[in-house]
Amino acid sequence: MSLAKVFSVSARVRPYGSTGMLVRYASAGQEGKVSKVYPPTSPGYKYVNAEDPDMSMREMTNRAATTLFWTELARGFAVTLAHIFKEPATINYPFEKGPLSPRFRGEHALRRYPSGEERCIACKLCEAICPAQAITIEAEERRDGSRRTTRYDIDMTKCIYCGFCQEACPVDAIVEGPNFEFSTETHEELLYNKEKLLSNGDKWESEIASNIRADHLYR
Ligand code: SF4
Ligand code: SF4
Repeated sequence: MSLAKVFSVSARVRPYGSTGMLVRYASAGQEGKVSKVYPPTSPGYKYVNAEDPDMSMREMTNRAATTLFWTELARGFAVTLAHIFKEPATINYPFEKGPLSPRFRGEHALRRYPSGEERCIACKLCEAICPAQAITIEAEERRDGSRRTTRYDIDMTKCIYCGFCQEACPVDAIVEGPNFEFSTETHEELLYNKEKLLSNGDKWESEIASNIRADHLYR
């Protein structure tokens, strides 16, 4: 008996319901015996070929009705009408605004502690890490020995909103808040100083604090 005969797969393949195909193969003395269901159900095996259509009477009737009565056309009309009459998916900005992620990186702000003391300790990590070199800090020691900035500038026209500054900050002082509506008419208005950044922090503190709380598991 030749090896080719034992393992040759006969060309007789017939549809077998929704399970796919039955393959008959020839083996010694068992010509035509149904021995394998294709596609195989072994774990990790994914059948990627197009499967034969279901030849049950119900499915054949459905397919015939679809072809004869152009039901695809009716379904297409139904989808179009649903799109026309349902609520518009677009937002009517600026009267409506969409939800923002707690990680949204908008306008910068410098935060204070609840006591009113500024958080920034002038470590300059944010200035060092800024890839756009948009941050300029000058610092000096106070009478009480603490170190604080005397100048904290961000050139918002250089900033690429990467968020590295807030990631580097050890005391959550510099943050990118949720405000995205700070367009200006002049370049100078986007050169932020410490006063502007602290006032941003005062204005957005509740939103910034709740965003940091919402994201605390990932920080
Ligand atoms: S967001 Fe990035 S580019 Fe902008 S100031 Fe911070 S570190 Fe610099
Ligand atoms: S904002 Fe943060 S990282 Fe930048 S100097 Fe102040 S404490 Fe350091």
